[in-house]
Amino acid sequence: MRRDPEPCTDSSSTGRPSTGRPCADGEAAPALLRVRGLVKAYSSGAGSVEAIRGIDLEVAVGEFVAIMGPSGSGKSTLLHVLGGLEPATRGEIWLRGKRVDRLSPAAWAVLRRKHVGFLFQFFNLLSTMTVADNVELPALLAGATPKQARKRREELLDELGLAAKAGTAPAKLSGGEQQRVALARALANEPSLLLADEPTGNLDSANARDVLRLLRRAHAGGQTILMVTHDAKVAGLADRVVSLFDGMIADDAKIMPAPRFGPHDNQTPVKNFLELRG
Ligand code: ADP
Repeated sequence: MRRDPEPCTDSSSTGRPSTGRPCADGEAAPALLRVRGLVKAYSSGAGSVEAIRGIDLEVAVGEFVAIMGPSGSGKSTLLHVLGGLEPATRGEIWLRGKRVDRLSPAAWAVLRRKHVGFLFQFFNLLSTMTVADNVELPALLAGATPKQARKRREELLDELGLAAKAGTAPAKLSGGEQQRVALARALANEPSLLLADEPTGNLDSANARDVLRLLRRAHAGGQTILMVTHDAKVAGLADRVVSLFDGMIADDAKIMPAPRFGPHDNQTPVKNFLELRG
């Protein structure tokens, strides 16, 4: 698959081994995503409503960021604007070091094909295509050869326990299976950034576990993820939790792996703890 040169990755910023090009001495890793003064207003009968009211955010290559916040705080709007599904009203969005907030819808579509994967609660699978075709299509659109797209599809469906369903129509699958296919599709073009909106929102616990396991594995492989969730346990998979309130960032906390405790330490082990910034 033809890809632009990857920005370098500084594994110390994510605490994980880098699968991308390591930064040379003195070379700073650019943020995969940089947002400055982002505002999104919707017009309403009485005037306009600002769903996003001045957001600054940086996401490093390979980082897994959970976006939390009460209903109506702007989480979905933020994801849609960052993926170019809706235009920003003001502010700047930089993806892979390039300014993208002024791109035309057509240019956004091209950028998304190569660099952005979407996973929504409502799976948006193409009903007239098989599971296999649904998963192969994004890779083909991103420039993969049919052979590469098939290989990637086989790997992803295998990993999600769906290899036997490759020839099936999405409508014949359960909701959990459809969501797993949607995840395979979102990862099929190896996107620079995966945007996930409540990826386990409608799933029972077994299906949610499968989806989360693949997200965790994708992250361990260097995938950058921005995920909206209401569920603190799901957010616990992330490196960092950004909390929105009323269209603004109210808190930005890194989740650090807990230190290891020896058998004689007189302390209660904890899985994770929050280190609040600022
Ligand atoms: P969340 O995802 O946190 O629940 P949303 O991003 O969906 O929040 O919504 C944030 C605010 O923007 C809400 O007040 C919502 O009513 C408003 N909003 C969202 N989408 C639209 C739209 N298409 N038109 C008008 N207002 C909208």
